[in-house]
Amino acid sequence: MVICLLMLKTVHPRAWDQTCPEVFLQRCTACKRCTEECPFGAVDEDEKAIPYHKITRCRRCGTCLGSCSERIISFKDFHIDMISSMFRSVDLPEEELTLIGLVCENDAYPALDTTAIKRQKLHPAIRFVPVRCLGTLNLV
Ligand code: SF4
Ligand code: SF4
Repeated sequence: MVICLLMLKTVHPRAWDQTCPEVFLQRCTACKRCTEECPFGAVDEDEKAIPYHKITRCRRCGTCLGSCSERIISFKDFHIDMISSMFRSVDLPEEELTLIGLVCENDAYPALDTTAIKRQKLHPAIRFVPVRCLGTLNLV
């Protein structure tokens, strides 16, 4: 049993993160978007089309958070207010066009780290906001 748990933790992309999606169900419209957009089949619905998360399948990617038009899905350590705060705290140089890059923490962010290790320079007007997955975001 211990070995199984260790293996699960090892293959999990967010092994250090024990949080799970939380849904404020009072405002759920039963639209099923979270079920359809979860890439790992970790969301299902009951007979009233109210979603529930199958936590053992959840990879904590946050795609369901981005899929919900009601904005009622969140994690303890990752939610819409937090993403908004990151945007608001971006230091914008005056009278200069700033490009904000939304970078997935699984691959794009480590790639930026590699860029820094190789001492490659980026344009000073570029800022980065790390997100769990680009699926975490929607146009709203
Ligand atoms: S966090 Fe990702 S894997 Fe987990 S339920 Fe949401 S979309 Fe599915
Ligand atoms: S996307 Fe949001 S509103 Fe729609 S079923 Fe899922 S939790 Fe409910």
